[in-house]
Amino acid sequence: MTSAPWSVDVLTLFPDMFPGPLGQSLAGRALIEGIWRLNAVDIRGFARDKHRVVDDAPFGGGPGMVMRPDVVDEAIASVVAARNDRAPIVFMSPRGTPLNQARIRALADGPGAVVLCGRFEGIDERVVEAWSMEEISLGDFVLSGGEPAAMALIDGCVRLLPGVMGGDGSDTEESFEGGLLEYPHYTRPRVWRDREVPEVLISGHHEKVRAWRLDQAERITRERRPDLWTRYAAQASGIKR
Ligand code: SAH
Repeated sequence: MTSAPWSVDVLTLFPDMFPGPLGQSLAGRALIEGIWRLNAVDIRGFARDKHRVVDDAPFGGGPGMVMRPDVVDEAIASVVAARNDRAPIVFMSPRGTPLNQARIRALADGPGAVVLCGRFEGIDERVVEAWSMEEISLGDFVLSGGEPAAMALIDGCVRLLPGVMGGDGSDTEESFEGGLLEYPHYTRPRVWRDREVPEVLISGHHEKVRAWRLDQAERITRERRPDLWTRYAAQASGIKR
């Protein structure tokens, strides 16, 4: 049995933005190889009136425009009907749960996702509720649209799909995977602008290299991300090396 490719439907007012960066490099090759499938759907195609209006002024007043629930609903219904799975419907939104590696991994392990990209001030709340959408944020800042956020989410998932990264373990040693940020990397030349590569890395002593890297990862995490460090330290105190 060949399993269906990981499949993502993106609902957007700018379908021409896709695959965009996702058509390059690892993700782009995997797309051509059929490891994953991308369907960018133009929300405007679901507007009923002759001017293809997708937005309207907010009730209660205020600046900007809001995407209409009826139009977004039709767009979602069409892609959901075409899928024979129960992939989550994700709305990219600065009010959502901040995206992290654990959520990326869970999404990559599933059948794919339906990803809704907002524009203008956002999307009518009722359609977000009606489809029980999962709201995901890329971080505490505001983009002009959900598309770059969708691309980030999809890129994070695609690189974890079997066959995309070559399976050399580089995805399990990375930042966040063990609750730590990654250790620093070095390559040739050995001396660059009077800066030498740390001695231990050229010692050929694998155990020492491993210990040094863990040490560095711990130091960097402690210094830069006290939030991650607290969680890691609590976990590690249970299973101290
Ligand atoms: N008025 C909204 C911002 C709208 S920005 C607010 O203040 O919360 C327009 C669209 O860009 C949003 O609907 C969303 O889809 C997308 N977007 C903006 N910032 C984002 C972020 N940090 N993460 C994910 N999507 C974001």
